[in-house]
Amino acid sequence: TNTLFHGLTKTGLQDPARRFATLTDGRTFTYGDLDTRTAQFAHVLVSLGVEPGDRVAVQADKSIEALFLYLATVRAGGVFLPLNTGYTPSEIDYFLNDASPRVFVSSPKARDAMAPIAARAGARLETLGVQRKGEAPAGTIAQMSEGAPATFETVSRSPGDLAAILYTSGTTGRSKGAMLSHENLLSNADVLEETWGFTKDDVLLHALPIFHTHGLFVATNTILVAGGSLIFLEKFDLDTVFAHLGDATTMMGVPTFYTRMLDDARLSPESAGHMRLFTSGSAPLLAETHRAFERRTGQRILERYGMTETNMSTSNPYEGERRAGTVGFPLKGTELRITDERGEPLPQGEIGAIEVKGPNVFSGYWKMPEKTKSEFRSDGFFVTGDLGVIDADGYLSIVGRDKDLVISGGYNVYPKEIELAIDAIEGVVESAVIGVAHPDFGEGVVGVVVADKALSEEDVIAPLKTSLAKYKQPKRIVFVDEIPRNTMGKVQKNVLRESYSGLFK
Ligand code: ATP
Ligand code: MG
Repeated sequence: TNTLFHGLTKTGLQDPARRFATLTDGRTFTYGDLDTRTAQFAHVLVSLGVEPGDRVAVQADKSIEALFLYLATVRAGGVFLPLNTGYTPSEIDYFLNDASPRVFVSSPKARDAMAPIAARAGARLETLGVQRKGEAPAGTIAQMSEGAPATFETVSRSPGDLAAILYTSGTTGRSKGAMLSHENLLSNADVLEETWGFTKDDVLLHALPIFHTHGLFVATNTILVAGGSLIFLEKFDLDTVFAHLGDATTMMGVPTFYTRMLDDARLSPESAGHMRLFTSGSAPLLAETHRAFERRTGQRILERYGMTETNMSTSNPYEGERRAGTVGFPLKGTELRITDERGEPLPQGEIGAIEVKGPNVFSGYWKMPEKTKSEFRSDGFFVTGDLGVIDADGYLSIVGRDKDLVISGGYNVYPKEIELAIDAIEGVVESAVIGVAHPDFGEGVVGVVVADKALSEEDVIAPLKTSLAKYKQPKRIVFVDEIPRNTMGKVQKNVLRESYSGLFK
């Protein structure tokens, strides 16, 4: 058997006529189609020389074929390696040299730019595009798959074998390749199916990218194990989302999906009230967004926490109180603790490093043995790099990343606390707090603020003087039109730190 492929498809394939996906142009795919299409793609991969353990790197626009290519790689015993569609050729050059894939699949339009890069990395270059209704298959991989046999002898793979290498988002530095095993992925899909009550009747509105763990694994694998179906959108677009929400039972999103839906008059109890579940993750969901969404729709968004390296680690309860501003409890099978700098567990209520252990946690960073070693404790716990605190009821809150911690005058300043205080000021839309080198304090607290009315620095700093200890108060406020975010809605604090590095010089 092949742990991941058989584990993910056993329910769906019991009834091959069952719906697996609906596209926005009305085309549909059954689980039987999934079986056939992934068999055909697997034949193509084998014909291109892919052997068990070989990487198949893919930078392609979101399409149902790209999803089949993921499952086909797993069936062929390969290691799926998706790459952010926003990466430039020179960035791809780094990833291909790092990962040395057997095959690199680019979009047809990028082929010429990618040819020398793939050649240098020793990868065979093929292409995959987005096939439109009534048109021929797009890209060489899809064309070759046309005549391939409809059945494939799925390559056996054990729980510990690698199924994917996913590069982290690169929010805090250069992306690292997280090695994920069949068991890492299947165990997480199983536990999410159970925790969130997924069944074959679920229809998930899929608007996330599929090069990231959220859209590729959390959304897709959970629907697959349950035998449910996807409404597969090429991207998040409000018109398309509202056009299809009525046919869905559930949606997974990043916080920006929800803030954008809140800005749209179509969000109402009529359009969203029927949904069984909305989840949020990949970046912090403001408690205010959570409350506003409930006021508008009656729906309490379920926030969960995870990362590329660990899959999902915690979740607010499905039944029970979904507490705004928290990420809930450790998932079944995942152990979680909060520790100090030396790795000693801290008592409940104290802020420290979040460490996790369980079948969801990856086996290490690709080609980075030293980095891997330094991020794992001797008892197997992985140091996530996030800081958190567990309240008296056991709910975990993320207070930020350890790299974003500001140390001013020797005191720790947790940006989240300052951001919440700034956000509460009349006229502030949102904020990001960073530490900037300061001649007297080591680092000075700086608030980067988006405002929707004319505010002065003093307008923001003055009200904080009564609510925050002196060392936490921002020394400067900078006003910007927009806080820089990456495609998953993550605030790029390293970009901000660089922009304002000279502020106190
Ligand atoms: P890199 O590791 O390359 O710097 P990254 O950590 O942003 O990038 P991902 O693995 O995509 O890459 O993101 C995981 C991180 O996202 C977590 O470590 C955490 O900081 C953040 N995150 C995920 N879910 C939540 C959440 N619900 N609330 C707050 N932060 C979250
Ligand atoms: Mg990370």
